[in-house]
Amino acid sequence: MLLFKDLMWFFKLEKKSYGMGILVLVAVALINLFPPYVVRVIVDGVDKGNLTQGILVKWSLLLLSAGFLVYGLRYVWRLMIFGASCRLGRLLRKQLFEHFTRLSPRFYQEHRTGDLMAHATNDIQAIEMTAGVGVLTFVDSLTTGSLVIFSMAFFISWKLTLITLLPMPLMAWSTSYYGGLLHKRFNKAQAAFSELNDKVLENISGVRVVKAFGEQEAEKEAFRILSADVVEKNIAVAKVDALFDPTIQLIIGISFFLAIAFGANEVVNERLTFGQLTQFTIYLGQFIWPMLAFGWLFNILERGRASYDRVNTLLKIKCEVFERDGVTDRVPNGEVTYQRASFTYPGTTRPILKEIDIGVNPGQTLGIVGKTGSGKTTLFRLLMREFDLSEGDLKIGRLSIYDVRLGALRSAIGYVPQEHFLFSTSIAENIAFGKPEATLEEIQAVASIAAIHEDILRFEGKYGTLVGDRGVTLSGGQKQRISIARALLLEPEILILDDSLSAVDAKTEKAILRGLKEKRAQKTTLISSHRLSAIEHADLIIVLRNGTITERGTHAELMTSLGWYASTYRSQQLESLIEEGGV
Ligand code: ADP
Repeated sequence: MLLFKDLMWFFKLEKKSYGMGILVLVAVALINLFPPYVVRVIVDGVDKGNLTQGILVKWSLLLLSAGFLVYGLRYVWRLMIFGASCRLGRLLRKQLFEHFTRLSPRFYQEHRTGDLMAHATNDIQAIEMTAGVGVLTFVDSLTTGSLVIFSMAFFISWKLTLITLLPMPLMAWSTSYYGGLLHKRFNKAQAAFSELNDKVLENISGVRVVKAFGEQEAEKEAFRILSADVVEKNIAVAKVDALFDPTIQLIIGISFFLAIAFGANEVVNERLTFGQLTQFTIYLGQFIWPMLAFGWLFNILERGRASYDRVNTLLKIKCEVFERDGVTDRVPNGEVTYQRASFTYPGTTRPILKEIDIGVNPGQTLGIVGKTGSGKTTLFRLLMREFDLSEGDLKIGRLSIYDVRLGALRSAIGYVPQEHFLFSTSIAENIAFGKPEATLEEIQAVASIAAIHEDILRFEGKYGTLVGDRGVTLSGGQKQRISIARALLLEPEILILDDSLSAVDAKTEKAILRGLKEKRAQKTTLISSHRLSAIEHADLIIVLRNGTITERGTHAELMTSLGWYASTYRSQQLESLIEEGGV
């Protein structure tokens, strides 16, 4: 019941819908008391032999009107209460989604995507259920339940009421108990099913690896075990389900038996009329649903409670990267400077970057090289404020990036990550992701610079070709070039290519770099790469090693200093010569 208190803010927000819905629910409960009374009048009329056609028609018409009235009113309360609960779902989903988009990468490292999806779907559904079916069962059980009991006890016989209601608490308990058990087992069956799903998915997407390693038999066996587990858990669900119905029917049966047995005795002793006993049994029938519902209510509330807490915990997680007061909305531009920048990932102790000093002017290109894990990507992530520096400062022009609104900072930067991500839409839409209003000419212009235009024209659907499962399969290099075009379209002050030329061949790489130089003559470009040829022409090259800069200078300077850069450059040149020579 406490959950209803927690949801009070929403009930207040929707007080009209809930007020109206509950009022109509009570009206329906009241009207429903009427038909059994009509039956009583008619049965007594038949019994005493004084039922005329006129009376029968009059009562029948009244009964019909009550039927239609209830029909209409039931429609109204459903619309009111379920409509409001759907709006709660929408509200929570929106809050959660907006929160998800604000949270930092660390959050996504700590939470599995599948779990977050489950929160956004199952948990919100469970809360929606509380605000809809939960409110309905609560109000209905109370009003229908108490009105029916009241009518049975005061208008017919309180003694008979007491006797027949004896088994009812057992029914509420059984519903609650079986409902809980069913839910637990159902969850287990669901989990087993999703594991089976994952297995199938993994095998389909990794079919080439499975075959290449000759692991078909082992995979088949693993599938068989998972499949057997699904069956076993579903049978466990069916067992509870199979027990539930007969138990409830038995309890209802006992209740009716008591009503008829004791009621008939009362009729024989003329303490009740035939009509009254009939009316009583109809009321008893009406009382069953509220009792069942009451049992369900506990389960609904229990599930809703757990889900509400989970969603709230998520909503309460603060983004580690936040804006100071009084930040500017101005999109920064100018020299990018790292000033004694040090950084340790939150929750770890090893510094990843130590006292980095770099300055890159607009129009210049900075090349960052170093072994995997030396901190290249981290350097970029700090500039985009995915994480905040532990010490030092980072400036664009005269502004510290911490004095700029996050949105403004990020609109100054175009980032092409190592792991490119394309949406399952057309190629044109993928390129125009950050600028949906872009014209086809603009899109084609950036695609040309990214050296992907010719490739796109070769697809049947040209720029309208769909990407992903339902469309063409693109090579790694094509995806990289589409990602580059996407970033270029924004004409950002600072363009970051994070090892994003790794899958294109040397010739294409050269063409793209040439295009970039022309197009971005006044702007800053930061490139990290494994292949030194990609940064060879940069105005400044830095070599990172374990988070510190070990070499810096232009290509010519670094080649004369005979350090890591020079030796790596030579060996890479040799490798490409060998490749070109076809050896
Ligand atoms: P590079 O781009 O040069 O390959 P990265 O910047 O990706 O290097 O990583 C530098 C170091 O930081 C690596 O040792 C990596 O293990 C560590 N690292 C990267 N991301 C995280 C993270 N989210 N939490 C903790 N350590 C991280």
